[in-house]
Amino acid sequence: MQQVDVAVVGAGFAGLYLLHRLRGAGFSAVGLEAADDVGGTWYWNRYPGARCDIQTTDYSYTFDPELERVWRWSEKYATQPEILRYLGFVADRYDLRRDIRFGTQVATATWDEAQHRWLLTTTKGAPVSCRYYIMASGCLSAPKPPEIAGAGDFKGEIYFTGRWPHEGVALAGKRVAVIGTGSSGIQAIPLIAAEAAHLTVFQRTPNFAFPAHNGPSPADRVAALEKDRADYRAQARLSLTGVPLPRATEFSWQLGEAERRQRFEKALAAGDLVAMLSQLWADQGGDLEGNALAADLLRERIHSIVKDPETAEALTPRDHPFGSKRPCLETNYYATFNRPNVTLVNLRQEPIQAITASGIKTDRRSVDLDVIVFATGFDAMTGAITSVHPIAGRGGKSISDVWADGPKTYLGLTVAGFPNLFMITGPGSPSVFSNMVVSIEQHADWVVDRLVGLREAGFTAIEATETAQAGWARHMADCSQLTLHRLANTWYTGANVPGKAPGLMPYPGGVGPYRTICDEVVSRGLLGFTLSGPNGAAQSNDGEIVRLQPDVRLVLGMLAELNLPPLESFGAQGLRAFVAQFNATRPAGRPVGEIVDGTLAGADGPLPYRLYRPATPGPHPIVVYFHGGGWVLGDEQSDDPFCRDLCRRSGMIFLSVGYRHAPEHRFPTAAEDGYAALRWIAEHAAELGGRAGPLLVAGWSAGGNLAAVTCQLAHDRGGPAIAGQLLVCPVTDCTFDRPSYNDNAAGYFLTRSLMYWFWDLYCSPADRTDPRVSPLRGRLSGLPPAFVATCEFDPLRDEGIAYAEAMAAAGVPVEQLKARGHFHSSFTMVDVVMTSVEGRIKMAEALSRFAGQGQQEAIPRAAE
Ligand code: FAD
Ligand code: NAP
Repeated sequence: MQQVDVAVVGAGFAGLYLLHRLRGAGFSAVGLEAADDVGGTWYWNRYPGARCDIQTTDYSYTFDPELERVWRWSEKYATQPEILRYLGFVADRYDLRRDIRFGTQVATATWDEAQHRWLLTTTKGAPVSCRYYIMASGCLSAPKPPEIAGAGDFKGEIYFTGRWPHEGVALAGKRVAVIGTGSSGIQAIPLIAAEAAHLTVFQRTPNFAFPAHNGPSPADRVAALEKDRADYRAQARLSLTGVPLPRATEFSWQLGEAERRQRFEKALAAGDLVAMLSQLWADQGGDLEGNALAADLLRERIHSIVKDPETAEALTPRDHPFGSKRPCLETNYYATFNRPNVTLVNLRQEPIQAITASGIKTDRRSVDLDVIVFATGFDAMTGAITSVHPIAGRGGKSISDVWADGPKTYLGLTVAGFPNLFMITGPGSPSVFSNMVVSIEQHADWVVDRLVGLREAGFTAIEATETAQAGWARHMADCSQLTLHRLANTWYTGANVPGKAPGLMPYPGGVGPYRTICDEVVSRGLLGFTLSGPNGAAQSNDGEIVRLQPDVRLVLGMLAELNLPPLESFGAQGLRAFVAQFNATRPAGRPVGEIVDGTLAGADGPLPYRLYRPATPGPHPIVVYFHGGGWVLGDEQSDDPFCRDLCRRSGMIFLSVGYRHAPEHRFPTAAEDGYAALRWIAEHAAELGGRAGPLLVAGWSAGGNLAAVTCQLAHDRGGPAIAGQLLVCPVTDCTFDRPSYNDNAAGYFLTRSLMYWFWDLYCSPADRTDPRVSPLRGRLSGLPPAFVATCEFDPLRDEGIAYAEAMAAAGVPVEQLKARGHFHSSFTMVDVVMTSVEGRIKMAEALSRFAGQGQQEAIPRAAE
């Protein structure tokens, strides 16, 4: 039995760096590696054309500046032999091989609760007893079985790209098949075609691919790195992908077609995956419409290269959004299909029936072959972990059973019920959505730092809690709403392996945000972990690390970085100017049919309004809209993106009213202006292009208050008729003692003290119980049907809920939306807080129901 502090499975990028760090931290460690040498991915994948697809400036270790100085890559995208040489160089430089047992597969792993140790059995040599067991076993290291009937009958040669023979394969003069057109197939096919007598490519799903433009590393990238290496690396660690490229901030609808094409051509010329995935326009990754614009340009390119139109179309991906499946960098891939010795078989039209002794038989043809190359991919993310079987944790539970419905982890690093087991780039971490080396270094550092901390504190076991793990799963699901990955069947979701539980496995929230979360777990006393040690020493800090929606977390983080003084300290004029400046930086709202500015009659003179008309043929129902701003701030234009969005989604006119503000005009001016505006709009509905029939009323925040009040006034004063009210985070009452006023008093932008200030400016204490400012105290029966949206992290949450409940108790039909993880501004920050879109869809649906109409403009749900 070999006794060590730590056993590390795998000797690729991850295992090597771990061994180096562990040794430096004074732990005894052994590396266990199935291969005969270091390299991992780059040991096994020796097929022709194998290279990295993240530029070598970035796809390198960064932990040692001296290593960066002594190693020079020869190309922008290094070949497999060069990357393997690099990893060998690293192993030698830090003298790592002496701690690695090669040719040694870990077979089983069992947790010994009494000893707080893992016992590993291996296929060669002594078993290992270790305190900590780290799977650095790779996300893409377990090749997928062929799954095609008859593979065993074939009399020719069979190869897997992921297990390519070291001595190479002679293909000259042979009839070769490649099955699979993922990154491996797309890299190998042009080189195999150049050598083989004939190549038949069997394609099930075409992929998006664009040119690598390999050659020397681009001068600008090298210059950026050389200028300030430490800063470049620091930026990479905080970027979304692990590559520090600026992302496009303009949205597709802000760019003309020529500008979009120019950006596309620039990204195409860059030959860079990250550039193409992030530098076209801001909505390319998360929105179907923005994505389709990019996808169309890539599709056009395929047709411009491939001469045979049928082959070109077969190579054109149409079943998944661009980027939802990993796109590929290609060198002569499409042009290869113009060669006379290359045939494409479209398996969507003629599935493979079987592999026979002589070749491959489809529904339409039999292809005689000498060689079959399987470029069919991997049992990704979980395959290598569950191939150690069993990994038996606390109470003998096997990880394969615990993961039967898909992997469950905390941070992609640990699993509840499996103390002292760590995974490097495990499912639930950014891993394959990132430049892997950056993610590997972050995980290795985090784990080794924790082991040091445990040793110093005298603990011998660390385990994630079930609460933390469930919270992480929820956060993962929230993040996945921000991307389009959920819309494609890929190895990211396990769809490539028959029978594998479906679900997005890598963490889609970005490398930088993820790193800050891992750091926050530590700064909050190892939140979500239980620690234990000898003599009953124990520490448990249960909880969920992220309760905010991911984009809300980012927005609040950015606001916190501004280090603003309390907003009320600006004074009314100062705060108005600040808000105007703040709004100027937000994404422009999406186009609507028409925008008209006009004037209506208020309670005491004219008021400005802005009308948003849908692009669909009218007349449309009219929604009278009241903006937010604590009765003090804003105007008829200040909720512009929100009005545009709801106008488009509901197919209704939104008429935003510029009511008068405090402190110049105190209570009940805003309320009376609101009611007067309602009457004027009802009288002028036809001129405004409105449909005959009752109006609708909507508002956000203090505007939600005015919307609620206006409905009550219309009811009490005999009209106009209102078909429904949409109240978004409304102010409904003058007391501040509901729990949300305490729970969310500070830290979520709208603070308790700001609300106090708004109230003071608008309304004297003596007037506050008047239903025209505290509608919760008004007569509620007979009010129009309502949709009330509240946000979890909003001081106004509970009074919104109270109003919804009180209306319901009074017999008003009420629907409630309690938005988990959202803050006061979530719904109005359109195209910033993307996760709020589901709520806005529901609001538009409610308005349509109130107005007795179906939705006018079909905006695909998945587009959000
Ligand atoms: P690996 O390199 O996969 O190493 C894991 C090792 O663990 C393997 O050697 C395996 O033999 C060993 N192992 C597994 N199970 C056991 C066991 N039970 N017992 C003993 N040993 C075991 N990522 C990028 O970011 N950029 C790229 O350009 C890129 N290109 C890629 C190209 C190819 C062809 C492939 C397949 C992947 C690519 N990747 C790329 C992902 C790549 O896997 C990672 O970048 C990185 O190499 C992973 O390193 P690792 O040490 O985590 O895992
Ligand atoms: P992959 O992306 O999973 O591609 C496998 C291909 O085989 C797909 O086209 C798949 O079709 C097809 N396939 C699988 N099973 C099949 C079957 N039974 N019958 C017919 N076709 C079948 O695997 P990969 O190409 O090895 O790449 C995996 C990942 O490794 C990449 O996404 C990338 O992250 C990394 N990689 C990177 C590079 C690089 O450029 N640096 C190179 C290689 C790999 P379906 O799509 O229909 O399932």
